[in-house]
Amino acid sequence: MKILIINSGSSSIKFQLMDMPSETLICSGLVERIGYKNATISYKTNGNNLQQTHHIESHRQGLERVVELLLDPKKGVITHTNEIKVVGHRVVHGGNSFSDTTLITSEVKDKIQEYAALAPLHNPGNLEGILVAEEIFPSAKQVAIFDTAFHQTIPEKAKRYAIPTSLYEENGIQVYGFHGTSHQYVSEKAIAYLGKESSKIITIHLGNGCSMTAVRDGKSIDHSLGFTPSNGLIMGTRSGDIDHAIIFHMVNNLGYTLDNVKTLLTNQSGMLGLTGHVDLRDIQAEAEKGNKDCQLALSMNAYRIKKYIGSYAAAMNGLDAIVFTAGIGENSSVIRQLVCEDMEVFGMDLDKTKNNKRSGDIREINTTASKVKILVIPTNEELEIAKQAFELVN
Ligand code: ADP
Repeated sequence: MKILIINSGSSSIKFQLMDMPSETLICSGLVERIGYKNATISYKTNGNNLQQTHHIESHRQGLERVVELLLDPKKGVITHTNEIKVVGHRVVHGGNSFSDTTLITSEVKDKIQEYAALAPLHNPGNLEGILVAEEIFPSAKQVAIFDTAFHQTIPEKAKRYAIPTSLYEENGIQVYGFHGTSHQYVSEKAIAYLGKESSKIITIHLGNGCSMTAVRDGKSIDHSLGFTPSNGLIMGTRSGDIDHAIIFHMVNNLGYTLDNVKTLLTNQSGMLGLTGHVDLRDIQAEAEKGNKDCQLALSMNAYRIKKYIGSYAAAMNGLDAIVFTAGIGENSSVIRQLVCEDMEVFGMDLDKTKNNKRSGDIREINTTASKVKILVIPTNEELEIAKQAFELVN
C-alpha cells in the first residue's frame, strides 16, 4: 500500500512516498520557500535526484508540482494519483483532544484550527497541507499524526504548572510536549533492543529543536518542552529554560516590547545567541580552534542535558538506557561525550572509541561495565507516521 507522508510547514512541504508494510521508501523531497519567486523543489527517487526552482505561491501549487513529478513518465513513481491510498499528515498540536492517530474529519480539522492558537507557527501550515491533499487525492484516506499524542500519558503532577487551576481547566495551560513521533519511534526501538517491556529510558532528541522524554514502560511520563516548544534544553535559536522574570525586567526596564522579547528568545537565543552560529558543526569547529564562546556554549548545552537526565532518573527511580537521536544526537560525538562524562553516579560509562565511530545503524556506545546502556538510534519520524497511518487504516 502506497502511503504519502506530508509534513506541511508555514512555508515548506516535506514529503515521502512509502510502500507499507514493507517500509520501502519510494521517493522523498521538499518544497521550500513557498510564497517566494525562488521556491525550490527537491525530489529524490532511486534513479533521480533533482532540484528545481519555481515561482510557487501557495501550498496548493507546491503540492501540484510534487504530483506532476510523481506522475512524470520518466522521473515519476506512480501512474495515477489514486494509487496513493493514504496520506499521513504530521500535525504539531493536537491539544488534549488526540491521544492517537486519527482519520481526518471536519471535526478533526476544526480542532486543528482551534489549536492553531497554541501553535501559530505550525498548525496553520499543517491544516493547509490537509485541505490541499484532500482535493488532490480525493480517493485517499487522510490521517493525522499528532506530535503531542505520545505525551498524553504524562501524569498531572508532571504536566501541570503551579499557576491557578482555572488556567489549566478553562484555558488548557499545561505541558503538551512535542517531537512525539521521534520519541515514540526511538523508545520503541530501544525497548526492542533492550528486550524488556518494563523499562526506564530517557530519549534525547537533539536537532534544531531539542527535547528529552522520560519513557517508563513505553509511555511518556515527563518531557522537557512544555506548553509550547520553547522550554527545556538549549536549542539552535531558542533559549530553553529561563527565569520568566527576565521577560518582565526586559519589558519594564530595558525598553523591549513583548514582541521583541519573543523574537529574541525564539530566534536569536540558544546556541546562536551564545556563539553567533546555529549549526553545531560550525560551533564545534570554532571551539576546536580555541573560541571560548563556542567552548562555553557546548558545555552549557551538555550541562542542561545532564540536569534533565538527573531529574528524569529520579522521576523513574532508575535508568536502563539513554538514547541520543536527531541531527546532533546521531552525529555529534562531542556533545555525547560532554553529556556522558562524570555521570558514574547514574551508572553511565561511555566507551570513547565506540562513541567516535560513525554509523547509520542503531548502536551501543557504552563500555561493557556500564550499568546503563548509552544508545544512538537514528530517528525516522516519517516511517513512524507511515506505520501509524497503516495500522489505523488496517
Ligand atoms: P531538524 O530539527 O530541523 O529536523 P535535524 O535533526 O536535521 O534538525 O538536526 C539538524 C542539526 O544537526 C544541524 O543544525 C546541525 O547542528 C546538527 N548536525 C548535523 N550533522 C552534524 C554533525 N556531523 N556533527 C554535529 N552536528 C551535526
